[in-house]
Parts: sequence; structure tokens; C-alpha cells
Amino acid sequence: MKILIIGAGPTGLSAALGLAEKGIICDVVEKRDAPSALSRAVGIMPVTRNHLAPSGVAEAILREGMPIRKFALNRGKKSLLDLDLSATLTPEQSMTALPQNRTESLIAEAAIARGVKIKYGVALTQIETTGQAATVTFADGSRATYDWVIASDGKNSVVRTQLGIPYPGIDLPETWSIADVDVAEGFDSEQIKLWVQGVDGIFILAIPIEHQRMRMASCTEDCMRDVPEKPDVRHIRRTGTFKISVRQAETYRKGRVLLAGDAAHCHSPVGGRGMNLGIDDGFAVARCLAEGTVDSYSADRHAFGEAVIKKTERMRKMLTSQSLFNRTVLNIVTGLVGRAKRAQRMFIRALTTF
Ligand SMILES: Cc1cc2nc3c(=O)[nH]c(=O)nc-3n(C[C@H](O)[C@H](O)[C@H](O)COP(=O)(O)OP(=O)(O)OC[C@H]3O[C@@H](n4cnc5c(N)ncnc54)[C@H](O)[C@@H]3O)c2cc1C
Repeated sequence: MKILIIGAGPTGLSAALGLAEKGIICDVVEKRDAPSALSRAVGIMPVTRNHLAPSGVAEAILREGMPIRKFALNRGKKSLLDLDLSATLTPEQSMTALPQNRTESLIAEAAIARGVKIKYGVALTQIETTGQAATVTFADGSRATYDWVIASDGKNSVVRTQLGIPYPGIDLPETWSIADVDVAEGFDSEQIKLWVQGVDGIFILAIPIEHQRMRMASCTEDCMRDVPEKPDVRHIRRTGTFKISVRQAETYRKGRVLLAGDAAHCHSPVGGRGMNLGIDDGFAVARCLAEGTVDSYSADRHAFGEAVIKKTERMRKMLTSQSLFNRTVLNIVTGLVGRAKRAQRMFIRALTTF
């Protein structure tokens, strides 16, 4: 079976690794000249690490990353929740914080060790598909035909556009921002801090990336300006703004082409599900191709993705809401989580599973 993967982000690399683990070595092309150096997604959920356990990548992620075991939720200057579960939650049960480029490198190394070749600097420009094969054209004009093509070419997928697969949804009006900064000693590298339901629905997040490195993100144009508790910043590695769309492809399959990852869905970073869902898609598409169950891929993954999008949207709306009802609900929930062990287990489950 001849398979081509378009895009060496976390989704494409996971699909390549998943196929290689089942004895299928595919081609991977990536338009960037080299692996990405961007820290984008930070949180890796335990369920995602399960996929990466047989290859040893999960162990490497645990070794290199930071377990997130403390949670602080504030509304303005008022603390709603201050939870320290470092005594009860093992690193294996926790979300791990690691910059996305490191996660991608670890998955790529495992795929390469199993025989996968990733061709950098190769961009797909055109694709056609029938019920039996897919033919691709690259930027240099060369063409090739494959039994299957996995399109993991991200949110602005050329493949999805060329095949005319609708990507319905909405574009959120506000501009979001991120900052990746080095901070002074004393920074708690196991704690996520959130400021929610702020003035005008402001939501701000601060999550550790490494021992003295932190990611801030907000639904405003300048998270560093708007964060209520200023961190002791020693060096700014990167700041930026971005727009958020909430969209899902109408189908994940056309002929012999299968969409996966952001090419098939996108949503807000609230809840940190984007990369995790992409890795999950990658292993799912690999399993379907290797086990001959590809006919169920589109319907199954569409339903799963739809549920994840709904959950992240519920979280986003709750955390940016100013309605009295939502503020009251959050007061009650955080009050329960702060007091009851059972509620804490449910809270952790909600944070660390899809
Ligand atoms: C600022 C920010 C913060 C985020 N934080 C989180 C988080 O905390 N947790 C989380 O889970 N998610 C997060 N995400 C989302 C996460 O980064 C994405 O969901 C994830 O990268 C999707 O992976 P992917 O492989 O599907 O797509 P991408 O990572 O976009 O990879 C697609 C790859 O395809 C390549 N490509 C594109 N077109 C072509 C072509 N024509 N030919 C060849 N190659 C091509 C691209 O160069 C790229 O390398 C964040 C995103 C952003 C922007």
C-alpha cells in the first residue's frame, strides 16, 4: 500500500509513526525547509501519551515535560479555586507541559527510527482523486500517484480547498494574543493560572512550558499588558496575535484522500485540545488504513471531532461569560471542586480527557 502524508505537524507525524508501528512505511512531505521551532501547543493529555507509549515517546515526554498539578482560577483579584494536587496526582495521571516543537521532534525521531523519511521543502500544489487512487503535483512540477493520501496540512489545507470539501463554521471577531517568556526563579512550574469572566469577558491563561519559561494567552490583543498578576519577565522569546475560527470539514474523506488534524477541524485554544485531537486523528487514520476499516474513518472521526469542538466551545463561552447565571454556576462548581475529593477527580478528568 503506497501512502503519502502531506504536512509534518503533530498530526502527520503521528500518522506516519502509527503506520510505521504497523509495518507500513509511507512518504511524508513538508513545505517548510526544516522542522518548526514554534512552541504553539503546550499541554499533552494522558490519553494522547497512551498512543505514544509503545514507541517510547510518551516516556520521553514525561522526562522532558512538566506535570501540571496545580490549578488557580481567579475572577479579577478574587480567587475562585486554588488547587494543589501534587501529592495525589502522579505525573502519569497529569497533563504534561512541553513546547509543541519538542513534541514534534520526539515523534519525528521515533518515526525516522522506524524507517520513515520526511522530505522538507516539498510543497503539494495540486491533488486529484478517484475511487482507486490520488495523484499529487508538487511545487517543482513533479507528479506521483498513491493508493491513499493523508491530508494533515493544517487549518488552511490546500488539499481540502482543492477537493472542494466545505469547512463550515464561524470566525470569532476578537483578536487573541500569546507571549512566550522566560521568568525569574521562584516561578511555580507545575501551576496553570486562569483569569476568567473578567471585565468585557476577558480570559487570560498562564501555563508553564519549562522550569523558568511561561506561556501567556488571552482573548485580548496584549496578554502581557492585561494579565492581572505581572510575572517577573527576564526575556521575551515571542509575542503574537492570532484569530480563532471554529470550523469542521463536512467530510473527512473524498475518494482516496483522508483529512486529519487542523485540516479537518479547528477551534479555540481553551482547553488545549487542538494538538491532542490532531495526534488522536493521526493514530486513528493509521489504524484504519492498517486494519482495513477506512470506510468508517470519516463518520467516526467527524462525530468525535464534533463532540470535542462542542466541549471547547462550552468552556470558552463559560470562561469568557459575564452573565450572572454563568458566574453563579462557576462559583458553585469551583466551590465544590475546592472542597470535595470526588469533584476534584471529575474536574481533573474533564481537563485531561477529550
Ligand atoms: C498560538 C497557538 C497556541 C496553541 N495552543 C495549543 C495548546 O495549548 N494545546 C493544543 O492541543 N493545541 C494548541 N494549539 C493548536 C495546535 O497548535 C494545532 O491544533 C496543531 O498544530 C495541529 O496540528 P496539525 O499537524 O494538524 O497542523 P499544523 O501543526 O498546522 O501542521 C500542518 C503542517 O503542514 C504543512 N503544510 C501545509 N501546507 C502544505 C503543503 N501544501 N505541502 C506540504 N506541507 C504543507 C505545514 O507547513 C505544517 O507543518 C495552538 C495553536 C496556536 C496557533
